Amino acid sequence: MTEHTFSILKPDATRRNLTGAVNAVIEAAGLRIVAQKRIHMTTAQAGKFYEVHSERPFFGELVEFMTSGPVVVQVLEGENAVARYREVMGATNPANADEGTIRKLFAESVGENTVHGSDSQDNAALEIAQFFSGLEIVG
Ligand code: GDP
Repeated sequence: MTEHTFSILKPDATRRNLTGAVNAVIEAAGLRIVAQKRIHMTTAQAGKFYEVHSERPFFGELVEFMTSGPVVVQVLEGENAVARYREVMGATNPANADEGTIRKLFAESVGENTVHGSDSQDNAALEIAQFFSGLEIVG
């Protein structure tokens, strides 16, 4: 089934000029980038985005990191895009990520792990709506 998922190239990716390199892995995996923009998240935006983690010990660090520099937010389209992108991203901790995944190739640590991808279709829809209008998504 053709789906959309929401992706973020995190500040460690933009800082190291890895936008194109990460996008090449995404596209080689058969996912199409149907919307994309570079933004600098505010603390309020990052706090809302990661609200589910607000009780976790690393929440403050996570919001600080996500607002530390520009990010690239994206909508990806493809067959089973949510699950496919989770595979392409690799495990949250790059030390546990499979060979060839984005996090294995590029991530620096469990916190600074290069990419975000939605974990369900429901969350993908909510996350896309937080950052994009329908007019910005061009498949
Ligand atoms: P994901 O779905 O693979 O991104 O992982 P989670 O939903 O479990 O965590 C969300 C994000 O929180 C991760 O991508 C990391 O950036 C961050 N994170 C998770 N665990 C830790 C941790 O132990 N320390 C820090 N600093 N950040 C973490």
